[in-house]
Amino acid sequence: VMLPPRPAFPIMIAAWALNALPIVGYLLTHKEELWLPRGQEMFMSYGLAILLLLVLLPFQRRARLQIQRLQNDNYHMHNLAERDALTRQYNRRGGQRLLDDFMRSGNAGSIIMLDIDHFKLINDTHGHLIGDKVLQQFSERVSSALRSDGHLIRWGGEEFLVLIRGIAELDALVVAERLRDAINREWFSPIGQLTASGGVTSRRENDTLESLIARADKALYQAKLNGRDQVIGD
Ligand code: GH3
Ligand code: MG
Ligand code: MG
Repeated sequence: VMLPPRPAFPIMIAAWALNALPIVGYLLTHKEELWLPRGQEMFMSYGLAILLLLVLLPFQRRARLQIQRLQNDNYHMHNLAERDALTRQYNRRGGQRLLDDFMRSGNAGSIIMLDIDHFKLINDTHGHLIGDKVLQQFSERVSSALRSDGHLIRWGGEEFLVLIRGIAELDALVVAERLRDAINREWFSPIGQLTASGGVTSRRENDTLESLIARADKALYQAKLNGRDQVIGD
């Protein structure tokens, strides 16, 4: 029952043949021993028990496969629920969980709030489908520029939030600048150049998730006011 399904049958038969077959064979050829209480007990445990196992094993095997499939489905559902269908990045719900974990940890870290500049104009000029395509390219570019530094979350619409654990604001500003540069360095197909603005802040004592995000939002707003295509620390 505890063995992996594939080798279970042959191993069980071999073990039985080595251990129990001689006893069962002996009992069957010595009927007077078979009818003694000890003989019956041994015949039951060495002979009939194996038949029972042979019947049960396929059920156990099917149950194990079923459990594996359910575990797999569960993993995928969980993953899907926390991912954005368009960009495959964390959605708001997945992001919320990451950020809650981060706040609960009490560790240092920074966030970058990124917002595409004049995105409405792209939709208005090229249509919503092209807008979607640009969003996909945008998130691909940002996530490859991020490498393993942080988590990219589609916070809403064309607004993305980056969580970077363990780094201070100055380092986060460097990362944000790298992201901004990765965005406007290459052309987006088919619209051409694109820029984004960012607001950066890092966790302070007594911060709540709301106060942390509010500071990043404020810095982002400032970057927009200053003429966009820039990142600002709070
Ligand atoms: P700003 O530089 O000030 O950020 O200007 P903006 O035009 O980017 O800002 P605004 O918030 O006015 O517009 C955001 C637009 O993003 C509006 C909305 O229609 C569009 N948008 C939000 N989600 C999606 C999406 O999933 N697909 C597409 N194509 N557009 C989206
Ligand atoms: Mg925008
Ligand atoms: Mg916006």
